[in-house]
Order: sequence, then structure tokens, then C-alpha cells
Amino acid sequence: MRDRSENHFQQNKVAYLIYLVLVIGLVGFSSFQLYQFNQKSYRTLTTDVINLREGPGITYDIKSQIEGSTPYRVMRQENNWYYILFDNQEIGWIPTWMADSQTAEANQFIATTLVDEMDVYEENTEDAEIITTTAKDSKYQILYQAEGWVQLQLDGEIGWVKQTDIDITPGTIAYQQSTDITEEEQSSYDDFLSDYDYTVTTTADGVNIRDAATTDGNIITKAALNEQFAYLGQENEYYHVRAVDGTEGYIVNWLSESDSTAMADQAQAAEATSTLAGRTIVLDPGHGGIDPGALTDGLYEKEVTLQTALAVREKLEAAGVNVIMTRDSDTEVPLSDVAYTANQAGADLMISFHYDSTEGVSATGTTVYYYADGSIPVAEEVQAQLMEQSLLPSNGVKFGDFQVIRELQGEGMLIELGYMSNPSDVAIFSQESYWQQVADSIYNALTIYYQ
Ligand SMILES: [Zn+2]
Repeated sequence: MRDRSENHFQQNKVAYLIYLVLVIGLVGFSSFQLYQFNQKSYRTLTTDVINLREGPGITYDIKSQIEGSTPYRVMRQENNWYYILFDNQEIGWIPTWMADSQTAEANQFIATTLVDEMDVYEENTEDAEIITTTAKDSKYQILYQAEGWVQLQLDGEIGWVKQTDIDITPGTIAYQQSTDITEEEQSSYDDFLSDYDYTVTTTADGVNIRDAATTDGNIITKAALNEQFAYLGQENEYYHVRAVDGTEGYIVNWLSESDSTAMADQAQAAEATSTLAGRTIVLDPGHGGIDPGALTDGLYEKEVTLQTALAVREKLEAAGVNVIMTRDSDTEVPLSDVAYTANQAGADLMISFHYDSTEGVSATGTTVYYYADGSIPVAEEVQAQLMEQSLLPSNGVKFGDFQVIRELQGEGMLIELGYMSNPSDVAIFSQESYWQQVADSIYNALTIYYQ
């Protein structure tokens, strides 16, 4: 009996060792795949060095020069400019034509549309707005892949599609370089423009011409660098223009310039009444990716913070604010990146969005936290406006020692917008109407604060 039991033990030991080897192998393989995936989400430039600018245009200051071989990720796009984060933590703007005109590279992939009509979304979720629809067999450069969604470079903008709608092959697509206008084109412009007092000239390539003076306006067409238009008027941050072919639309004034001194005066007057426009504000939807934040049945804090911040972004962008998101999809943002992003951008303000959680179900309401005393006035204004909307009770403005606000050079706050642990709070803040009201509160608060 004794022999048999020892033998049995030996067999178990062998089985255990085989099991251990299998587990180690499997874990090792999956982390290798994860590593490879992360490598793919970064890209590199083929140029030796690139100018990193403060804003999306050649008129902005060069903040530093980066070696082209430094891996980077595209965070967002404005017209033909990418806001990018380099592997060395440098952050800034580069023109898309520097990033996309590169020759074939190992980590570059092309998407080919498999379906007759493929919807392209603004974000990597089905709730997001559909930007456009593309035909079967269209080809696009892949920028990024995440959780069944693929980010594509479209003509002058970026969009997300479902991975099931496309075929992925290695390769690159050459994008058209910006061209100077010919003499013939110039004379046709001159004939047309001579009938008008003032002209507007684009200062970037691929500038959107919209049907309304807001980022919500539909894009009618795009203008190349140095394209000229007749000036019809000004509305908000936009020039109302007429093209040589008679098309009318709106162009943002930071991607174009005009020869009218009268307009400069008008612009100054407009700026004096709305000093919110032109501000740089960083929005940080708390948590994300593998960090879900607080949980309640079927709802993650990371989802609600993102929806809230996106509503705020829309509202602020419409008011001419330069909004920078620390994330605009379900990705993880290291805590140290939040203040770093704001500091690098010289942001006027950073707002971090969170939803609270505690033991028990009775705790309720919103709390606005500041770290530096200099942030108290703006925090108080935001709290007052949240109270004005009276959706949830206010727990006031408090000092909070959180990393995302502690390391800020400028002003900032962390807002807890309700309790995940309180079912009646959840019933209110899981609604789109709540995110909208938060956006209105913040917009109202900042309009008052910056006046
Ligand atoms: Zn949180």
C-alpha cells in the first residue's frame, strides 16, 4: 500500500509539473501578444526630426524638436494636424502630412471595406455619431486598434469602424501632399475676388468648410493651403466665406487669415465679450481601460465619466475652447499623465471627472475638490452652477489631495458627480440628460469665471 501511494504521489508530481509548464507557457505567450499589440499602437516617423508645435497650425510656436524615430500615438486630430503623445512623454501638434507620407513600414496596416456601406463613427462605440459611410473595397490607413474597433485615417479626419467590417493587410497609403496654387488659379481668384472688399486665405491644408459657424456644422468641402475666398462676414470664431465656384460656408479663423483690419477690430470686440473662447482646457474622464473605477450592477464608473466628459467637450468646443481630452475612448490613462498633459499644454484649467463610492447606500450628491488655493474661485463657481441645476444635492467645495490636481501648475479641480453606491443617484446620473446638465453647469460657470 505504501509503495502504491508513493507511486501515486510521483504521478501527481509529474502531472503537476506538466500543468505548471503549460500555465507558464500560456501566460508568457499572452503577455507577449499583449506586448506586440501595444507596440502596434505606437507609430514612428521616417523623417530625422520633426517640429512639435503648441497648436494645430504653422503659426503656432515650436515647443521642441523630436527625433523622428521616437514612437508616438495620435491622441486627436484637428483639420490636418495631429495632437500626439511621444514615447518620451513630449506632447504637441504635428501636421498629418509629416506623419502620413511615409514609405512602407513594418507596423503599418491598411483596412479594406468588406461591406457595401460601412458606417464610420466618431468614437469607438455604437452610440457615437456616424461621421460618414464608405463604399465596399475602399482602402484606409489604420492608425490604432482597440477592442474590436479600428481607427482609420479618412480624408482629413479620423474615424472608427468595426473590425468585422474590414479586411486588414500590411502596407501604407500615400496621401496627397499640399500644393501651391498655380498662376492660372491665382488669376481666376483675382478676377473673382476683385468684386469683394476683403479676402480670406487658408493657412493650413485640408481646412474644413462648414455649413454653420460651429464645430457641429456639416463639412461641405475642404480647402487646400493658400486657397482664397471672398469675405462675407464673421460669426463667432468663423469667417463666412464664398469660394470661387460660388460655394458659401464657414472657416475657423485660426486656420485662415484675412486682409481686413476692420475684422481684426471685430475679432477683438468678440474676444472681449467671450473670454472663454480660445482657452485651453483639459478634460480627464476618470479611470478607463483595465481600471473600471467604482462598479454598480452593470455600470462602470469609467463609462459614466467618459460620457460626462464628452458632453462637456462638445459644449466647450462649440464655445471656441481648445479642449484636450486625456482619453476619448476606453483606454487607461496613468495618473501622472493627467497633470503632465495639462502642464505641457499650458492649460488654463483641468477638470477630472469621477463618480463617488462608499459603504452603504445613503451617501448622495456632488463634491468639487481643489488642491491649490488658486483653484478655489473657479471650483466654487462650478459648484454653484451645479447647485443651480439642482439635480443632486451639493456637498460643497473641499480640499482634496489627489495626484491629478496636486501636480498641476495651472488651475484645476476633481469633481465627484454622484454616488455609484446610491441607487437613486445612479438612476439620475446614468441619464444623458444629466451629462448635458453637467456640461451646461460647467459652461455657465466658466463663462462667468473668465469674464
Ligand atoms: Zn473615480
